[in-house]
Amino acid sequence: MAQSDPECLFCKIVVGEVPAEIVREGERTVAFRDINPQAPTHVLVIPREHHPDVAAAARAGTGLVDEIAREAQEVARGEGIGSDYRMVFNTGTGAGQTVFHVHAHVLGGRGMEWPPG
Ligand code: C5P
Repeated sequence: MAQSDPECLFCKIVVGEVPAEIVREGERTVAFRDINPQAPTHVLVIPREHHPDVAAAARAGTGLVDEIAREAQEVARGEGIGSDYRMVFNTGTGAGQTVFHVHAHVLGGRGMEWPPG
């Protein structure tokens, strides 16, 4: 798996080539506010290295998905919503994925319905 894809929008955010409102940076991850927020808190947690989706990141076998989940929890704490948040990985175009660099949506600060749309 390529560490970085020069064509990838989120790889460009990682290196600062595309601006984003960054809320948290880790050694292996970056968290920034979604430009089209769907909840009072809507932050994306991404790995610095490029993997097209969560399954590919998991297959890499380096604990990256665990780290994304831990960072999501830290984002929620930092946003003052504790452990009440929804973490979503849209995977595949049919499920609504539009950016093919794995990202966890961390959504919270309002009531959540189930099933999602
Ligand atoms: O799960 P999906 O791939 O659809 O999510 C991509 C997300 O990236 C969208 O919620 C979109 O608003 C967000 N985005 C962003 N900054 C960009 C481009 C897209 O926050 N520059």
